Amino acid sequence: MNKASRLYCPALITPKNAVVKQTEQLSRSQKLLTELGLIKSGSNGTYQIMPLAQRSVDKFIDLVQRNMQLAGGQKITLPVLTPSGLWKKTGRLDGDISEFYMVRDHSGKQFLMSPTHEEAVTAMLATNSPISYRQLPLRLYQIGPKFRDELKTRFGLMRAKEFLMKDMYSFDVSEETARESYSIVSAAYNRLFQQLEVPFVKVNAATGMMGGSLSHEYHYISPVGEDTLLQCRSCGFAGNSEVLEGKPASCPSCNSSNLQEVRGVEVAHTFLLGDKYSKPLGATFLNTSGKPQPLVMGCFGIGVTRVIAAALEVLSSEQELRWPRLLAPYDVCLIGPKQGSKEQPAAEVIENELLLKVGECCGHQELLHDDRKDLTIGKRLLEAKRLGHPLTIVVGAKSADLDSPKLEVHLSKGEKLELDVNEALKLVAEHSQHKKRLLMGSFPRETAESKSQSVGHQL
Ligand SMILES: [Zn+2]
Repeated sequence: MNKASRLYCPALITPKNAVVKQTEQLSRSQKLLTELGLIKSGSNGTYQIMPLAQRSVDKFIDLVQRNMQLAGGQKITLPVLTPSGLWKKTGRLDGDISEFYMVRDHSGKQFLMSPTHEEAVTAMLATNSPISYRQLPLRLYQIGPKFRDELKTRFGLMRAKEFLMKDMYSFDVSEETARESYSIVSAAYNRLFQQLEVPFVKVNAATGMMGGSLSHEYHYISPVGEDTLLQCRSCGFAGNSEVLEGKPASCPSCNSSNLQEVRGVEVAHTFLLGDKYSKPLGATFLNTSGKPQPLVMGCFGIGVTRVIAAALEVLSSEQELRWPRLLAPYDVCLIGPKQGSKEQPAAEVIENELLLKVGECCGHQELLHDDRKDLTIGKRLLEAKRLGHPLTIVVGAKSADLDSPKLEVHLSKGEKLELDVNEALKLVAEHSQHKKRLLMGSFPRETAESKSQSVGHQL
């Protein structure tokens, strides 16, 4: 049983009238996450993730893995430390290296704390090259920490020096089959972002330091975004202004002149790399005529912690968090009567019934019982609403009515309902059903339609 009284949730209490020295630009998700004790600021630009937020991270990792497995992915783990000699070979130490963490071991050998793993994974394949074309395509992915010595850390988990990434690398025999891999993984990304139920846009992107020939970015639209996108109000088309030539007067997709500039948070990025890494590092396969040939590669990243922070930024209000349904730390929060109140004995009978039945309905691990009965219902409810639980059930004075006991049910959108036990259980069941449908990848019709505005329109 998950009890609020046992939860390590170190809320940040700022005394009234205190002068807070602001050293960093705050976003509302970061402010709420910090104040409510879901994340803590570590040393400069790093974050400690507390139990409630960790549940969300773990749920997202699980969702990412389901989709990577569906796309033919095989999970691996590569060391954080990559010999910097590999990066020398691919020429990536020649550019701007100011954001790389370089370390030396006791023998003086230099390593990068990897911001990305193209070199490491390609060098790994080179050690057993040439591999047979029969083993291809190969799609390897990992989920782990990445490091970037950002000059400007901002907005908490959205731009930190250490962050969690899912990175996948595809290996194919030809440009043509590499494009097939690209579209299979892209389809998995589309499904994943639809499962999160947060509006997103997919745009053509510049290939930048990665190199390669084809690249797309996935963005959440938010004022704190660092990219400028041009979005069509008529058809939903969007393009990154880095890529669009000049500033078009009309929409390249529907010709409407109803274009607006919006800010985007980049949450995922895909690249078709070709042989940019396989050639210098010697990762090859034996083709049908027995000749070694460089592997044709793609890479596919999702900022795991960034997706969660950016989704919260988009969905939440200034006062209350709101989670993507599949990522809420708990589905249901149950608040019982206050210690010593006159309704306590009768209400606790209902409370105990609910603890059992709600748990059976949504899974016991999805139920948080706020058992801090020394606190008033009002205080606990306020906190539950700020934490953004999808469903909060209050067993208070009205549930002590022996003829027709009523519960107060609060939804994360701010709605408040007065229901009897069975009606409340039905709501919990509906929530669980909706989650199941999302996990199966079948999206409600309305969601699919509203999303179609933002999916598939790209330059
Ligand atoms: Zn348009």
